[in-house]
Amino acid sequence: TQQLVWPMAQFGQVINMYQRAEASSERIFGLMDEEGRIERDRDADELEVTEGRVEYDEVAFGYDDSERIVDDVSFEVEGGDTVALVGPTGAGKSTVLKLLLRLYDVDGGAIRVDEQDVRNVSLASLRRSMGYVGQDSFLFYGSVEENISYGSFDADREEIVRAAKAAEAHEFIQNLPDGYDTMVGERGVKLSGGQRQRVAIARAVLKDPEILILDEATSDVDTETEMLIQRSLDELTEDRTTFAIAHRLSTIKDADQILVLEDGGIVERGTHGELLENDGLYAHLWGVQAGEIDELPQEFIERAQR
Ligand code: ADP
Repeated sequence: TQQLVWPMAQFGQVINMYQRAEASSERIFGLMDEEGRIERDRDADELEVTEGRVEYDEVAFGYDDSERIVDDVSFEVEGGDTVALVGPTGAGKSTVLKLLLRLYDVDGGAIRVDEQDVRNVSLASLRRSMGYVGQDSFLFYGSVEENISYGSFDADREEIVRAAKAAEAHEFIQNLPDGYDTMVGERGVKLSGGQRQRVAIARAVLKDPEILILDEATSDVDTETEMLIQRSLDELTEDRTTFAIAHRLSTIKDADQILVLEDGGIVERGTHGELLENDGLYAHLWGVQAGEIDELPQEFIERAQR
């Protein structure tokens, strides 16, 4: 039977951290760092994002010495472009992005943002320039307004409402018992997955980061909500360097570059059209998701299970 749960990967660690975080971005990243193994930077320079160009240069990494989880990964993303990471669960997609956020430091090679090695800039400046929208975006116990302005503490109500509108969240927020003052999160009003996600998108819109990391929702939202989410994401990713971990390939088919990961390495890369032409793992996954073929050929299933 099909063991290949394509690819319902989780951004596990990051989500955990976000869930546990409280209303301070220092705190959030402080928590993250406890789990990471990064060298604390003293007197580090501030990251200066000019183009938003990101380069992975022969990056290698393992959570412990016994196993390389990311091996010889090299790619470049031009400023404003979108790169999608696809591949089976456990392939290393989230790990690759954790290295960009510097939840961990690379063991070999380097990651550079506009020619600056991420290890040489302060963590605060690095993370100020990055936004994250995950499939299980966390809300802390607080008002909707506080949840949106998290990370942009000087934003006023008008800016918050504008961000919520851009994220297609304004309407449902207005219908909550106390509108933007409604308490959500633990002990608060329960929001649906699609609503939580739009709050997270509003948060990212408000933060306006140079680099955006998306972990696609697989959530059980209805088609209309999905369309709304897609529309707000399209706007958010436009002209912004974006990394997207994708499960449904249809959502990343327009990416400037698609990287197919397997076993910690890039096994295929190109645009959607190029990858279909290539007739490899991506093309077959596409075939399955598009309903053109019933199941993955055995050779790919075996490879994914290794
Ligand atoms: P993907 O996002 O493609 O599903 P991950 O990057 O989450 O893949 O995981 C790649 C590999 O690294 C998996 O084998 C996973 O078990 C392992 N891994 C992920 N996080 C940790 C961690 N914090 N400690 C040890 N191993 C981990």
